[in-house]
Amino acid sequence: MLRSTVASVLASLLIAPLLPATAQAATEAPRVPEAVGAGGVVSSVDPDASQIGIDVLRRGGNAVDAAVAVAAALGVTDPFSAGIGGGGFFVHYDAHTKKVSTLDGRETAPASADENLFVENGSPIPFPEAVTSGLSVGVPGTPRTWQRALQRWGTWSLDKTVRPAEDLARRGFTVDATFNRQVTDNAARFADFTSTRALYLPDGTPPAIGSTFRNPDLADTYRELREDGVNALYRGDVGRDVVQAVRQPPVAPGVTRNVRPGDMTMSDLGGYNAPLREPTRTRYRDLDVFSMAPPSSGGTTVGEALNILETTDLSKETQVQYLHRFLEASRLSFADRNRWVGDPTFSDVPTQELLSQRFADSRACLISPTQAMTSPVAPGDPRNPVPCATVGAPAATPYEGTDTTHLTVADRWGNMVAYTLTIEQEGGSGIVVPGRGFLLNNELTDFSFTPVTPGVPDPNLPDAGKRPRSSMSPTIVLHHGKPVLALGSPGGASIITTVLQVLTQRLDRGLRLVDAIAAPRASQRNGTNTQAEVAFLGTAEAEALRGLGHTFASTNEIGAVTAVERLPDGRWRAAAETSRRGGGAARVVWSSP
Ligand code: GLU
Repeated sequence: MLRSTVASVLASLLIAPLLPATAQAATEAPRVPEAVGAGGVVSSVDPDASQIGIDVLRRGGNAVDAAVAVAAALGVTDPFSAGIGGGGFFVHYDAHTKKVSTLDGRETAPASADENLFVENGSPIPFPEAVTSGLSVGVPGTPRTWQRALQRWGTWSLDKTVRPAEDLARRGFTVDATFNRQVTDNAARFADFTSTRALYLPDGTPPAIGSTFRNPDLADTYRELREDGVNALYRGDVGRDVVQAVRQPPVAPGVTRNVRPGDMTMSDLGGYNAPLREPTRTRYRDLDVFSMAPPSSGGTTVGEALNILETTDLSKETQVQYLHRFLEASRLSFADRNRWVGDPTFSDVPTQELLSQRFADSRACLISPTQAMTSPVAPGDPRNPVPCATVGAPAATPYEGTDTTHLTVADRWGNMVAYTLTIEQEGGSGIVVPGRGFLLNNELTDFSFTPVTPGVPDPNLPDAGKRPRSSMSPTIVLHHGKPVLALGSPGGASIITTVLQVLTQRLDRGLRLVDAIAAPRASQRNGTNTQAEVAFLGTAEAEALRGLGHTFASTNEIGAVTAVERLPDGRWRAAAETSRRGGGAARVVWSSP
């Protein structure tokens, strides 16, 4: 076994340099939901992207180098979920210092924005009109995130790291069913922009499944970023093209859609920063769960729910009681999220208080084992936790898109990265920057257009330079400072419940990681109905939950998780979806199952 490992190590060392990415044929690499072994692991939704990450690890790069390379590759193969026109949150565990740090690469509103950004004649703009507009485009945070992550923790240059993705964009990749479906779903609005139509509907139809898709404009943009640095976007001609596309969206002649322009300027781009933020930290049993702090609501909401759940031992509950408590904890923590979380630079967000066990206990008090609560439930006051008390009116959970992407990496030194990145809706604003090959985000629609509950302060109204509240929850779990698990998911607000469900199924209910990811999902976000996948609705547990008063609304897929975990013997396991979004791509450097 040792000999075969050594042989495969040698083989990979010998073969890797002989196989530059450009030489590979454009056939789709296999989708594998689980991989176990040593030398580092990558899990993403896409086989080409995961393979690029593995190649970086194999060639001596660390987890951060690989994460940036995978993200850049996802900008090619998963461009409707993420890319340099968007933003995200990068969570890093440093095996040397045992410290978890985060970078906030969230998009910002332009300097001219105020709380009426999405209000016209006293009424909110219809949501779909806001989505497909220049108005909803935030200043992209992804290039700055890559630069800062590499500078701080990486060992490779941006030049070297983005190179494989540039090659992939140039040589092309095989269109799969998800890519084809995503264009089909967006065809009506993509057709309305000259640039987007030319790239994604070249013959008036979506690229066929099995065909090779190339994006030479994106390859050239990546080359410019590699050669000139990310200031090509923040201060240079890529940025000028972004500003132009926002201020004057490239609407095709004869199109009647009302595409509102945005007001982004070069000075908005030039002033963009991706700050380091303290992660949220939640003590759960003997584990430390680190995640993203505001402006994401991911860390506080997953953390509060875990603290609520910790008031009972989930490993000893029946499956029905486990699910009941999972739904009730989600419901309560969403009530608090909606009331209290926004960009901390603009309002006083009680991050620590939301994560205190005392507050969680005061909320757990509301859970009955025999009867589901009726949503919307009112928030509690984290600054003054009183058992079972609530304050003020409930605030609803606004809509968020469901298409983002998450990648998870660990390297041979034990460093880990959990990185969730997005352009918000599937296809973002629908606007490809002409000549540049990437879509602009519509992240600013994550703001409340008007206060969600009249008369109740809303920390998530737009403002100049403000970051809209997110739900992204890239999460890293440690035990006494040592790696246990890293994971995350797309899915808008359902990211939070998805991460919570996978965490508890793995940590408390003893499911194997790949099974915890594959298990049917339900998502309660302080709404009247709990969203649930069809497979969930068909279970005996769902029937029993109905008996406790839960009501469900059927939905297609919830989330697309990728995760990695450290095994007790020091090996790593990467895991991904078995079927959602066509299945994910788990990869390991040296396989030893
Ligand atoms: N914009 C959402 C957020 O930041 C993510 C959207 C998605 O997952 O599709 O939470």
